[in-house]
Amino acid sequence: MKILVLIAAVYLGYRFLRHWMGHGTITNRKYSGRENREIDDLMVKDPVCEVYIPKNEGIRLVADGKEYYFCSSRCKDTFLENRRRH
Ligand SMILES: [Zn+2]
Repeated sequence: MKILVLIAAVYLGYRFLRHWMGHGTITNRKYSGRENREIDDLMVKDPVCEVYIPKNEGIRLVADGKEYYFCSSRCKDTFLENRRRH
């Protein structure tokens, strides 16, 4: 009878631990997801087509010590071409 109680206690403890650990994992996932969204919220303007794009998705170009972000490599090429002409 004592052994049965012990098994039940261990089983309940195991279940509790699993539930607690699972909850912890979900919390961590939520936290990192929120962190990623904060980075996505940084919007930059494409100087060619004047569209706002997430900074981490834009194509970065440094010219004259300034940073430019483009929605596509085509916009970047257009920008470089315009610079050459002026
Ligand atoms: Zn563009």
